[in-house]
Amino acid sequence: MTTRRKLVVGNWKMHGSHAANAELLQGILAGGPVNADLAVCPPFPYLSEVAVTLANSAVAWGAQDVSAFEQGAYTGEVSAAMLREFGCRYAIVGHSERRAYHGETDQLVADKAKAALSRGVTPIVCVGETLAQREAGETEAVVKRQLSAVIHTLAHCIGEVVVAYEPVWAIGTGRTASPEQAQAVHALLRAQLAAATPHADAMRLLYGGSVKPDNAATLFAQPDIDGGLIGGAALKAADFLAIARAA
Ligand code: PEP
Repeated sequence: MTTRRKLVVGNWKMHGSHAANAELLQGILAGGPVNADLAVCPPFPYLSEVAVTLANSAVAWGAQDVSAFEQGAYTGEVSAAMLREFGCRYAIVGHSERRAYHGETDQLVADKAKAALSRGVTPIVCVGETLAQREAGETEAVVKRQLSAVIHTLAHCIGEVVVAYEPVWAIGTGRTASPEQAQAVHALLRAQLAAATPHADAMRLLYGGSVKPDNAATLFAQPDIDGGLIGGAALKAADFLAIARAA
């Protein structure tokens, strides 16, 4: 079995300011090296200053979204080529908040992942079921359908993405999937990937949903959980670092 280096990504969502970002990043950098890959995803306007602050550090940065289009008359959109110019290593695509509030479909999410990859930006593809879907026994069908669109659209490049399993009912709610619940879904996602690419064993599958310093270690100890996509706890340097150290 391949040893996968853990990856911990902070999704800052629509939080931050010049001052708050500077303080947060200084706190993270002061924590020193950790035995995991780290990245932060600030809102678009702050990418430039985050890039300057993190330039010579081990912490990478990314965006919270990317356009499916190359360029053109798409007001409000940001292209993968632009993200690349700002040194983004990652772009989150298909976060449940974008699926829910911006009507993003499985195919649009897949097209965004393709656009990111075409410019050398690694998509972090989010999948996850709602509470109603879980209670209806639809978890497996939902996450497989979401991932399937990306597998079909990326074809042989699917091995280059990061997948984040984020049960919608666990995001920002303080309710975390148990390590066993999360592992079960990660295992089936990896099996689905293994049917599509010989590289599935090397792919990183992150868990997201109310990851905190006190639950990170048991989640990250699961065999198919290769790190986390962290929301609320990524806004406090001490918490983000504690989660990174648990990885
Ligand atoms: C997220 O937004 O991706 C997330 C997992 O949020 P939280 O950690 O706050 O649940």
